[in-house]
Amino acid sequence: MPTIHQRALDFVRSNAPPGDVTAILAAFDDYGTNHEFLMNVGPEKGPMLTAMVAAQPEGGRVLELGCFCGYSSILIGSALPSGATLTGIEIDPDSVAIARQTVEYAGLSDRVEIIEGGSGDMIPTLTDPFDLVFLDHWKDLYKTDLISIESNNLLRAGSTVFADNVGPLFNPEEYLEYVGTSGHYDTKYHKSHIEYTNREDGVEISVYRG
Ligand code: CA
Repeated sequence: MPTIHQRALDFVRSNAPPGDVTAILAAFDDYGTNHEFLMNVGPEKGPMLTAMVAAQPEGGRVLELGCFCGYSSILIGSALPSGATLTGIEIDPDSVAIARQTVEYAGLSDRVEIIEGGSGDMIPTLTDPFDLVFLDHWKDLYKTDLISIESNNLLRAGSTVFADNVGPLFNPEEYLEYVGTSGHYDTKYHKSHIEYTNREDGVEISVYRG
């Protein structure tokens, strides 16, 4: 029995041509809406993320924690400014395999790298600051991992942290309290919806003060 990741990617391959990121994302959205729920960032929050990616500097660096099927990896990858790169960290081997195939199918392997490992282990191995960090893995790791990102000098003044799924359903209180009260961030909650549903969700966008 193929995994949900494999079933989703098989559907995508059958319904979208290689290299067509828009069609690939639409096929994932179709699968998540009409077949099996997929925890993708989805078509409502996705444009908020791509707008932020596109605003990064040429040659900028983006970090993603939690890649699942690679939906957000190709969403980000397709919006990167010239010379910019995305590093994705994913702990689940099935997700890593599928995310890499999704990136390959989208034709973005030259700018998107998926690293297999736990965020807590992999963050300290990274060097040089990131301009944008997309948090989308386990919600109870958001705060710990953000503090680790800071202490490993992976943020600079003006770096943006985009945290998905901080709405009432997941409600990562510790994380929201941290970005709200640590004094390190200018931060704002943006109301949205859980992907493929009309239930409230939100993203927290936090700019590092340095
Ligand atoms: Ca998510």
